Amino acid sequence: MLTALRPFAVHKGKTIFCAHCGNVATQEALFAVDEDITLIERYNDICSRKVN
Ligand SMILES: [Zn+2]
Repeated sequence: MLTALRPFAVHKGKTIFCAHCGNVATQEALFAVDEDITLIERYNDICSRKVN
């Protein structure tokens, strides 16, 4: 389940792309997969609204 959604800034000069549509990612979503496993996916603004 989605546990957090936070603004994502490009770091170390490396551009990350949205996992859904391939545009430049601006948000990162944290999903709790298991008790101690967190999955992080990056999305752009539009797609990040759809994962809530
Ligand atoms: Zn997208």
